Order: sequence, then structure tokens, then C-alpha cells
Amino acid sequence: MKPFTFSVADTPEGAVKELKSFSGARLIAGGTNLLDLMKETIMTPSRLVDINHLELAGLQQLPDGSVLLGALMTNADTAYHEVIQTRYPLLSQAILAGASPQLRNMATNGGNLMQRTRCYYFYDAGMPCNKRCPGTGCPAIPGLNRIHAILGTSDHCIAVHPSDFCVALAALAAQIHIQGPNGKRTLSMADFHRLPEDHPERDNNLADDEIITGIQLPPEDFAVHHAYLKIRDRQSYAFALVSVAAALRLEAGVISQARIALGGVAAKPWRVPEAEILLVGHPPSEDIFMKAAEHLLQGAVGRGHNDFKIPLAKRAIVRALQEAADM
Ligand code: SF4
Repeated sequence: MKPFTFSVADTPEGAVKELKSFSGARLIAGGTNLLDLMKETIMTPSRLVDINHLELAGLQQLPDGSVLLGALMTNADTAYHEVIQTRYPLLSQAILAGASPQLRNMATNGGNLMQRTRCYYFYDAGMPCNKRCPGTGCPAIPGLNRIHAILGTSDHCIAVHPSDFCVALAALAAQIHIQGPNGKRTLSMADFHRLPEDHPERDNNLADDEIITGIQLPPEDFAVHHAYLKIRDRQSYAFALVSVAAALRLEAGVISQARIALGGVAAKPWRVPEAEILLVGHPPSEDIFMKAAEHLLQGAVGRGHNDFKIPLAKRAIVRALQEAADM
């Protein structure tokens, strides 16, 4: 591990001031990903700013029916909170499908958004990697790419975002609350993470001197018809090869609203609103679900080892939608 300095922030404003004052400073909360990256010298912050004392670990029910999760609430506290279990069970299921109990007890909601890809080459400091060292190349494209992306890739990077939590947040159309030197702003989940394009070193649209303060879940909670399906190599403590967050609203046996987000297939949770609109006005059926799946996978490209993800994702979408519709 490279040497670094350390400070403790007492307020979001204080944390932002530290980030602005010290080039290369990074925030630390649970540290479940960052410390691993630092030990392997994949990330070498000049300063760590401890934000565990900020009052951002609670859950608020807002007057408009939405729910605000604090950025420092742990994944475990979020998954087991009565409001989340009763109103947003899709989110609870997704969180509990990820990591291990020990990690979920430490990992925070803000940190989950910020976690980095698990691409093998990214974690190997002896290998080139455009995300870690821009301009050095992407050995995953001609190399071992079984876990890599099939959608939204570029010639510079084919890594996937590893989160389950974020896939459910995308399906729920969550809003990310952010604070920076110029005040507060929000970003939709759809706009928070980035596709690699020409700059795979940037995972998201958070500026270096901004902090995530909360995650707002809209009033539409899809508490009745939802499913989170995660396909992985073993039944626990494994990242998704493909995951699907499916949410439906049914009125008189007809779909009136649909959300589908995919994990394990792109550098961000993958949503295609046109595929969701395809379902509206139809009763649930395997045929219409497969049409939506085909639409979601349009443009998918395999690189050899990960070709299997294309048919797997289609079947997983159909199965998740069937579960959500109680078929
Ligand atoms: Fe690096 Fe992305 Fe290529 Fe993996 S896929 S080696 S993270 S550039």
C-alpha cells in the first residue's frame, strides 16, 4: 500500500472542502472495495477522508411518498429495514443477492454506487488496462472475457459494473443526491454511471470534489409484482453473470407499467425504455416477454468467452418477468 494522509470530516461541506483542497483525496466509509484496491496499488489516493461521522445513515419517508436512503446507511440495514422490505422488496432482494453478510454489514449505499469493476485485468497491476492506466490497452477484448460486457462496450473497455443494488435502483428509477462545492444536485440512476466510450477510466458522472449524500426511491414501489433474478457461477458470494430486476404494474390482468434493468452485461445497469413500453397494454405472456428481451439485447456483441450471455440474458429476462407476473 502506498502512504497516504488521513482526515475526518464532520459534515458533507467539510468532506467536499477536503476533496477540493487535496488533489487525489478519496472518501472512505465502509472501505470494502477501496481498501482492497489500495492494498493492490490499483488505487493510490493521496489522502483518505473518513466520512463515517456524517449524519447520513438514516432512512426518511418524504411527504410525496418517496423514501430517502442515507448514503452511509449500510447495505444490511437497508435490506432489512421494515420500509424497504414492505414497500421496496425488489431492492431488498437485490441487496441480499450480493456479497456476503459480513460485507453487507460494512458496505454503504453510497459506496455500493462507487464500487469498481471486478475485471481480472483491472486488478492485476502487472497487466495493461485502459480503465486503470488510460491508453495502455484492453487485454480483456482478445483475452479472458467470460465475465465481461455484451452491451454498451467500446474498443477501449468491456468491463461490467458489479453491483446488484444498482440494478434494482435502476429499475426503480432512483435519484442520486449529490453535494459539491457549488451546492446540491440530483442525478437519475440512468445518468449516474457511464459507458466506457473513449474514457473508461471514468466510471460515473460524480465530480472528484462531490459527495453522494442520499438515494431517493420514487413513490412507485412495485411492491406487488417484482423479481430479482441473479445468474452466477455459485449460489452465494459471486458476482452476476447476468441479473434482471423486473417490476410490473398489472391492472385487470393487463400490464400498465413495466421496468426491466439488467446487471452483469454492461458498465452500468442496462435499461431500454422502449422495451418496457412494448409490454404495456398486453396481458403477461412468454411471447410478449421474449419480444421485450429481444429488444433489450439489440446490439449485443459477444467477444468469445462471453457469447453465452446473450441467450442467457434473454431467457433470464423472460423468467424474471414471469416471476414478477406470478405466472
Ligand atoms: Fe481494463 Fe476495461 Fe479492459 Fe478490463 S475490460 S482490462 S477494466 S480496459
